Amino acid sequence: MAVKAQRFKLQNVAAAIIPDSRMAKCLRLRAHNQEIKIWKVNEYGTAHYTGLQTCSSVWECPVCSAKISERRRAELLSAMCVHQANGGNVHLLTLTVPHQRGDVLKELLDQQAKALKRFWNDRVTKGVLVEMGYLGQVRALEVTHGRKSLRNNGWHPHFHILLFTGVGADAKASTLHQRYQWQLALYEVWVKACEYAGLGTPSFQHGLKLDNGKKASNYVTKWGLQDEMTKAHLKKGRAGGETPFDFLRAVAEDSSDKQAAALFREFAHAFKGKRQLVWSKGLKKALAVEDVSDEQLVERAEEEAELMGYLTYEQWRDVLKVDARGLVLEIAAKRSWYEVTRFLDVIEGAHTGTVIPPGLLVEVREILLC
Ligand SMILES: [Zn+2]
Repeated sequence: MAVKAQRFKLQNVAAAIIPDSRMAKCLRLRAHNQEIKIWKVNEYGTAHYTGLQTCSSVWECPVCSAKISERRRAELLSAMCVHQANGGNVHLLTLTVPHQRGDVLKELLDQQAKALKRFWNDRVTKGVLVEMGYLGQVRALEVTHGRKSLRNNGWHPHFHILLFTGVGADAKASTLHQRYQWQLALYEVWVKACEYAGLGTPSFQHGLKLDNGKKASNYVTKWGLQDEMTKAHLKKGRAGGETPFDFLRAVAEDSSDKQAAALFREFAHAFKGKRQLVWSKGLKKALAVEDVSDEQLVERAEEEAELMGYLTYEQWRDVLKVDARGLVLEIAAKRSWYEVTRFLDVIEGAHTGTVIPPGLLVEVREILLC
C-alpha cells in the first residue's frame, strides 16, 4: 500500500506538469452520477476507490499504468506458458536505433516506425522467420533517457519483441550457432532499414539482439515492474538511463529539476496514442488470451472486494486538499472503516479553508499505521 501511495504522489507531480491531460483528472473528479466508495480486498490487504474518473493512460499515469501492466504481464506469462507447453520457443528480439543528444523524440519515433516496417517487409527477415517456425509476436515499446550517463546521448526508444517460434521447426534450429546466424542476417536488414529511415547505422553491439527463451522469460517476468523497483542505485553514470516515471521521481525529490519536467512533457506528447504492447493478429486467440482493452482493465471490479463505505463529496474534497488519497487507502487497507472516518473528521473543512496544522498528517499516519 505504501507503493500505491507513492504512485498517487507521482501522479500529482505528473498532473502539475501536464495539467490539461485526462490523467490530471484521474482519481480526482467524480465519475458521472456516481458515489465515491472505498473497497477492501482482504486477500491481498489492499484497498481502492470506485466512482471516480480514471484515465487508463499507460504512459502518463503511474496509478493506471501499474494496474494495467500487472494484468498485461500475466497475459504475457500465460501466453508464453501455453506456447512452451505446446513445444514452442520464445525468442526475444531487441531493436535499437542510433540516437544522440538533441534528438526530437517524436521524430525519432516516426523514423523508428518507418525502419521497423521496412524491416518486417524484407525478404531476408521473412526467410528467417520461416526457419524459426514463427507463429506470431508481441512488441513492447519502451524509452529511456541518458541525461545522467557520462555521455548523454538523449532519448533511447527501443522495441523488445517476443517472437513465438518453434512451430514445426527443426529441433536443431534452436542451437546457439543457428541463433547467431539469424542474428547476423537480421542485423544486416536492420542496418538497411535504419539507413532507409534516415537514422544512420546502428552499431553491431547495440542495434539488434536475438536472445533465447531464458532471456525472454526473464524479460516477461519483470515486464512493467521496472518502474516499481527502487531506483536508489540510479546515480550519475548508470548505463540503463531514466524511465519517464523516473523524471517524475526526480521532480518529486527536487522541484527545481526543470529538465526532468520538460522531458516528461515531451515524452507524454510524443507517446500519445502509441500502443505499449502490440500483439500480432491472431496470436492472442491462438494462445487462449482474452482480449481486454486498457479501459476495461482499469474499470474491472476487483474480485472478492468488500465495500467499506462511502465518502461524501465534501469529504473527498478535503482528502484532495490535504493530498491524502494514498493515505486514506492505506488506513482502509490496514485498519478499519472506523479509523477512516476518524481521519476524515480530523481533516474536515480543509477544502473550505480550515487550517490543518502542518505535520498532522504525518502524525496521523504514524498513529494509525504503526
Ligand atoms: Zn489514471
